[in-house]
Amino acid sequence: MTDRRYEKLSWKIGDVAITRLVEVVLKAPINSLFPDGTPEQLSAHDNWLKPHFLDADGDMILSIHAFLISAGGLNIIVDTCAGNGKKLPLYPEWNDLNTPFLENMSKLGFPADKIDRVLCTHLHFDHVGWNTHLVDGQWLPTFPNARYLFGATEWEFWKDEEDPYESHALDQALQPIFDAGQVDLVESSHQICDEISLIPTPGHTPGHVSILIRSKGEEAVITGDMFHHPLQMAKPGWVDMADVESSLAEKTRIEFMQRFGDSETTVLGTHFATPTAGKIVSDGPGYKFES
Ligand SMILES: [Zn+2]
Repeated sequence: MTDRRYEKLSWKIGDVAITRLVEVVLKAPINSLFPDGTPEQLSAHDNWLKPHFLDADGDMILSIHAFLISAGGLNIIVDTCAGNGKKLPLYPEWNDLNTPFLENMSKLGFPADKIDRVLCTHLHFDHVGWNTHLVDGQWLPTFPNARYLFGATEWEFWKDEEDPYESHALDQALQPIFDAGQVDLVESSHQICDEISLIPTPGHTPGHVSILIRSKGEEAVITGDMFHHPLQMAKPGWVDMADVESSLAEKTRIEFMQRFGDSETTVLGTHFATPTAGKIVSDGPGYKFES
């Protein structure tokens, strides 16, 4: 039987096809990301958080995945996970990975040389890792024919910022793409093709963007890390240790739920475990994720 955590999931939004490709699935205590959070404070939400997003121990299930999109004649990858061979001493679960990510991409109809655009919702290491791969000791672009779209605001922040995760994202996954001349720095509301555009969702990082997909009257949004976990729909104000600007991140989450809540818009979470997609629905004074 296929492991449901890693299974292939696909969605159709009008003419746009979206497929999830999982790199790793992690189990993590709530307070590893939300220092003030406890399972008890979430017990009123167990009916929609369990069993998909919280396990029987009350720990978070986090899926690290990319979305492969085919739209307007373009092959697009959104967020490139952690990548193989990256040295991440602070994160044993991501350190020196060796997964068949590229082989799996090919099997899904997205060989590396057929990728036209690489979109990164932000520049944390687990969203840019496969930007590069190691060839004869050198980090080179994994997608030789792609334009890599990085947010101009996001790059402005990270280019001089100390790496909080000791991940070497800058020198191993970003700078080599600049050196190869494959980067386009774009505005936070950039339009990629008729069906796909960026929307600014700052706070997790200063230039964080989400991906809006619209086709034939249907709509979907890829969240990026504006939401790390669906529990943030119930607790948008819980401090997330990975957010660069907590109060802005909270404001962005609330405005996003007001805009897309109780609508037909499909929400695809970048770290949401299987089933990954759902709708934002009012729940008492707040919201929940209905998958
Ligand atoms: Zn992040």
